[in-house]
Amino acid sequence: MRAPVRPESWLLALVVACALLMMAAWAASPARDPWKPAMNADTSSTLPLEQAATLAALHGAPVPTLEPVVPVRLMAFEGESALRVTVRGAWEILDENGLRRADGHELDGFLRADPTGVQVGAYLCGLDRLILAPAGDGALRIENESYTGALEVGLLREGARAIGLSLVLHLPLEDYVLGVVCGEMPTSAAGIGEALRAQAVAARPYALWQWNRRKGALRDTASDQVFRGLDWHTAAAREAVEETRGLVLTWQNELLSAFFHAECGGSTADAAALGFVRKPVGALSGAPDPGCEDARRWTAVVSAERLDGAARALNLGNWMRGIHAIERDDAGRMLRTRLLGDQEHFDGPSEEARVRLGVPSTAWTAAVVRSDGALELAGRGRGHGIGLCQNGARRRSKLGENWRQILAHYFPGAGLQTLTTKLLDA
Ligand SMILES: [Zn+2]
Repeated sequence: MRAPVRPESWLLALVVACALLMMAAWAASPARDPWKPAMNADTSSTLPLEQAATLAALHGAPVPTLEPVVPVRLMAFEGESALRVTVRGAWEILDENGLRRADGHELDGFLRADPTGVQVGAYLCGLDRLILAPAGDGALRIENESYTGALEVGLLREGARAIGLSLVLHLPLEDYVLGVVCGEMPTSAAGIGEALRAQAVAARPYALWQWNRRKGALRDTASDQVFRGLDWHTAAAREAVEETRGLVLTWQNELLSAFFHAECGGSTADAAALGFVRKPVGALSGAPDPGCEDARRWTAVVSAERLDGAARALNLGNWMRGIHAIERDDAGRMLRTRLLGDQEHFDGPSEEARVRLGVPSTAWTAAVVRSDGALELAGRGRGHGIGLCQNGARRRSKLGENWRQILAHYFPGAGLQTLTTKLLDA
């Protein structure tokens, strides 16, 4: 059970921005001020991805970019009542108004959910929400994960009782994208540098689009984008993020919700047909991906309990009688599905069925009901199938395509821009 968490306010964001600005490295780099666009930030124009020569000029020169501070909820720690925390070097604790409530050098202790407020090591500040900000480029270690950025620690309450902690890391977009590239892709394989660059350029606009949609912190799991801490960073990932610094995909001069998935199974899907976007978006309309056809096929067993649980959750009755494809795309992916309960039926986007039944994709080709009532499925592909296919991107990278060609394939007609306030506000 989770107590309500107040939405992040601009004030809080500014407090965090201030905390980050105190970092020495940060201060030494005025172009990274998270809230002020660089002088030429709004002058960047959209270029078709295929125009490699023009793009080289665009991203070859050091382009100062806008870099918002992104809030990321660390889901693995959500609700815990005590967490080991370590800071090497100087640190301070700020309240929501940016006032310093404690500071020190070296911290090795626990974050605890105390009825009087969040406890940080030996410090009890009487605050239900505070920011623990390491100075300089110091890293925070929480349990077995290390992070850069400032940590917002919130207390979850049930009445007067403290029931747990909620951690939100605030860090510059580029640092966040590095953690996403390392979370979403195996980064040390040979020949996949261009796929990592493509992933970075997709991850930026997706994060900003999703952040705006959530009206709150992003999650560090696959429900937004998998984000990993410092221990997961590799030189190849750092290079991919640095070389594409600030670049985002756009559609009609707005940030593109650049979806990605593990493996398409032979063709990527149309986001509008799957109900992911309200109206058709050319850049998300799907593309053939021949090399993925023979990728790993899967089989899955959905237990009778899970099927019946889905029937009850959707108010279809007490048990599931069947699952039928209403509409498939040319590649055989189910676009719309009918879930047939013993009393009612539900027609909707097949992604609903995929998530409810916990199966790898909606491109399944065989479904057999076993004698124990479980459903046995065989299919191909992993994930929703929209946008960039990570498996295909790696294959294309190894075959010599560059990141612009990879993105142009999976997001046909998308533009490429440096991030601007105009894009953020659109
Ligand atoms: Zn693919």
